[in-house]
Amino acid sequence: MIAVNQTVPCPRCMGTIEINVHELINGGKFTCQTCSSVIAIATERKEIVGESMAKFQELKDLKNKK
Ligand SMILES: [Zn+2]
Repeated sequence: MIAVNQTVPCPRCMGTIEINVHELINGGKFTCQTCSSVIAIATERKEIVGESMAKFQELKDLKNKK
């Protein structure tokens, strides 16, 4: 299991932003305590999900061929 509470470096000030993985996956946003930048991973998450779904489909196709 991945720890729910993690920290990520702020892209703007390189400070530390505490994030909750569950909230992040659900489209939550997190604010940097240092510079008030708001970070969210929604767009990247969709890409990651799309990619893993494609891989999953590949595996299924391979299995069906055997
Ligand atoms: Zn910051």
